[in-house]
Amino acid sequence: MSEEAAIVSGEVKPEELIISVDENKADVAEKKAADVKAIQSMWTDSWRPPDRRNAWQWAEGKTGITKIPYSPVPGRFSTVSSPWVKEPLETLTDPTCQTVQIVAGIQASKTLLMEVGASFITHAAPGPTLWLDQTDAEAADELDGRLKELWKHSPDIEGLIPGTTGVNRYKNKRNKVTFLNSMPFWCLGASNIKNLQRRSIRYIFGDETWQWPDGRMREALARLKSFGWLGNAMFSSQAGHVDDDTDKNFRAGTQEQWEFACINDKCKTVQPYLWENVEWSEDAKQSGEDGKPDSYDFDLVRQSARIVCPECGHEHDTSKTMILRQMNDERRGAGYRVMNHSAPSNHRSFHWNGMCSTPAGDLAVLYLQAKMAARKGDITELEIFYQKRLALPWQDSYEDFKFDIEPSEYELAEEWEREGMLTRGRKLITRPEEPYRDDFESEADYGEAKRSYDRTIKGGKRLRVMGVDCQRDHFWVVIRSSDKEGNSRLLFEGGGRDVEEPILTWEDLDKLQEQYEVDSRFVFVDAGHNTARVYEECGKRDWTATMGRGEGMFPHRTKLPNGQYNKVERIYAPVKKVSLGRGKTCRMHYFSNLHAKDILHRLRQNQDPSDGLTWEVPQGVSEGYLKQMDSEERVKKPNGKYQWEQIGARDNHLWDCEVLFVVFLSMMKMTGGDITTNAGEGRKTIEQPDPNA
Ligand SMILES: [Zn+2]
Repeated sequence: MSEEAAIVSGEVKPEELIISVDENKADVAEKKAADVKAIQSMWTDSWRPPDRRNAWQWAEGKTGITKIPYSPVPGRFSTVSSPWVKEPLETLTDPTCQTVQIVAGIQASKTLLMEVGASFITHAAPGPTLWLDQTDAEAADELDGRLKELWKHSPDIEGLIPGTTGVNRYKNKRNKVTFLNSMPFWCLGASNIKNLQRRSIRYIFGDETWQWPDGRMREALARLKSFGWLGNAMFSSQAGHVDDDTDKNFRAGTQEQWEFACINDKCKTVQPYLWENVEWSEDAKQSGEDGKPDSYDFDLVRQSARIVCPECGHEHDTSKTMILRQMNDERRGAGYRVMNHSAPSNHRSFHWNGMCSTPAGDLAVLYLQAKMAARKGDITELEIFYQKRLALPWQDSYEDFKFDIEPSEYELAEEWEREGMLTRGRKLITRPEEPYRDDFESEADYGEAKRSYDRTIKGGKRLRVMGVDCQRDHFWVVIRSSDKEGNSRLLFEGGGRDVEEPILTWEDLDKLQEQYEVDSRFVFVDAGHNTARVYEECGKRDWTATMGRGEGMFPHRTKLPNGQYNKVERIYAPVKKVSLGRGKTCRMHYFSNLHAKDILHRLRQNQDPSDGLTWEVPQGVSEGYLKQMDSEERVKKPNGKYQWEQIGARDNHLWDCEVLFVVFLSMMKMTGGDITTNAGEGRKTIEQPDPNA
């Protein structure tokens, strides 16, 4: 066997070879070991034909990766339990593919895949390489804690690593390694723009791109230009948000989705891992005192969860490794399905989620815990579940957390003992209860209490708000009662045309106002449609007209105790007096649609006082109302700005009425703290609520 052939087949260790070549030369023996390694690697590189294997075949081979030191599963690199890493790795040796975007669940080998890929090119087709994490510190950890450790366990690479002492130590730095085959390998942070400038790079590996600032993937790709079709970029990430760079780069590619084959041999249906096909025992639900489900027997959830085949009903217990392996077996039909046939062939994207490697029971527990938190108004965990486990980009108003509002114990239109009032002196207090004669010993005591009550009530306003949405020939109305802090209860909701009790005229609105004792100033009417008529009718009644605007805040001037003025930004504009002729006017406020709806979105989910302002609806609230509360979603526009938009053709009128209640809360300084700019200093502070303003 020739020496060259021996190296290729991996039977002779390079160290042994170089010594045999040079053994007759006495001076070589005195050279430093590092120099020997350098010469040897240059020599072998120039004589060795390129490794014809692809990256995963190399890694599984004898001289590939013999151990993954940081893996919980000890042993050689193997694709047996993660076959989905194979195709993405094959792209490294496919000259027709330049860009790869992986979006995958955490703990499913997505970073390891790139580490193996980067190791492979170091061995088989070296070129300037840039590995990018979010920050320089994370990149240094990746290089030190993972890559360098991995390379120690690769016979093909071990000999290429410069020592940390001796003449080559300058080649082994915190953020850069220059391999002894002279391949430079930088490991840097994408958030530092300087890292993405100047260098010519042949290979880019970008990890967790969802955390990168906008535009950095594009910057990184520009570094490949001088290598033309030889340049290769591989990006990998969990999911971030709909329309972020990672999502866009994924959608621009082939969108190849990993699918499994049903293990029922009579079925074998190849299908995506869908969360809606996961089921667990109904008995796992635990009810609270009121009979409503409020918790789960998580052990039972974990044990009973199965992926159910929608074709044959077969239940897959994915806590068993052998079952998962069978499901993911390519010989039985598992593999990638291309979802985007119009993608350019040089841009491939791959997706797999946590269900292909994590037992469904473990995921179900995480999911139910996240749902419970979401019901209390905290959707963070649910967002994380979607992004990290299902590898799906998050959108602020997913169908999933369909605003699971639990009605409160009170009945519609019931008097609320905590209702607040705004006194004549413009103080916010809890509305006192009217004294009853029977509760008092003497007529005098009663008289005293009654006079005190009358004094407090006189000229005060109940904190009740009527929000009105005007359509061409009918109205929608919501009446909500607030306590002195801004916690609120729905008292009335209704409207529409084809209903039993439609609200059709301005006089119908008068009746509602009277019946619910709403102060005229607290009747807020949306003037977006039929504007002139709304101004006219509001002017007559001393009601307040409102008009939603885009995203901006509105400047206010507030007087300080020392007589000077402060500039303050609020979600509503200072009052405008609209002239109606003959000396009559109507009060009108603009408000920020974006900010008011953001606040409403947070408020509407919370019925737990320990999580901030609560927002209640009564027993038996209508289905229609609940649907309308879930009728808009927050979307990012092409200009990068957000706005709330109707979902499909869902009615959103009652949602618009509730937005007016948020404007009221903001005017009362109960929510949406002001942003103050102190003149001259440009310093921003949040102003304390001032109920007397
Ligand atoms: Zn089946």
